[in-house]
Amino acid sequence: MRKFIVAGNWKMNGSLAANDALIAGILAGMPDSENVDLLICPPMPYLATAADKIAGSRLKLGAQTVSEHESGAYTGETAPSMLRDVGCEFVLVGHSERRALYGESAQAVAAKYVAAQSAGLIPVLCVGESLEERESGKTEQVVDEQLNAVLDSAGVATLANAVIAYEPVWAIGTGKTASPEQAQDVHEHIRRVVGELDETMASAVQILYGGSVKGDNAAGLFGKPDIDGGLIGGASLKSEDFLAIANAAAALG
Ligand code: PEP
Repeated sequence: MRKFIVAGNWKMNGSLAANDALIAGILAGMPDSENVDLLICPPMPYLATAADKIAGSRLKLGAQTVSEHESGAYTGETAPSMLRDVGCEFVLVGHSERRALYGESAQAVAAKYVAAQSAGLIPVLCVGESLEERESGKTEQVVDEQLNAVLDSAGVATLANAVIAYEPVWAIGTGKTASPEQAQDVHEHIRRVVGELDETMASAVQILYGGSVKGDNAAGLFGKPDIDGGLIGGASLKSEDFLAIANAAAALG
């Protein structure tokens, strides 16, 4: 039985004061359910403070990106070991904003995934198609290419310590959510692709959906058999919105 994960990607939002209030709100209302893990991914400068605030709780910490390098002359970058050092367990890799705005190639994403795991982090590998790709019938092809770039270099066995997030680019921050059926189709496809390599891994790997998930659509999405929770952007910035999504998952657990 796979657990749900509800992960908040705060993107480039927040301040010390706002984060304190947000974390306090989440901690005060977190569902007491063994079937849901809650994760927050604040911006880099706030990770260490967030780690202090959540210490001793069930709330988990992740970063939004990571360098593929261990250390050295990479100005502005953050090494995987540094994220571990400040208390991160997870890191997003290949978020569509990183791919589109910062030119992260499939190979760079694969290198980040490998580097993250080498440091003991759990990568949340984000894959997903643009609107144009969906409309031209290329959704599965795009998702396969993004997934296979990682599986070819890291190996399917590494999914034991990873999470996949299906995030159709056209649904991120747009208010347009994939219908539960549209999302389920792609999740099922991803599980089938993994299953062609390793059946056990396919049934164990958690696949999150991301793209305008809110309190009022979460239950429909999470109720689908291959959707194991959500990666949440906008609705992770208010504790009551984030908790509504977490509670939807807990109610299904
Ligand atoms: C995201 O940034 O990963 C995301 C899914 O954002 P939103 O929920 O705002 O669409």
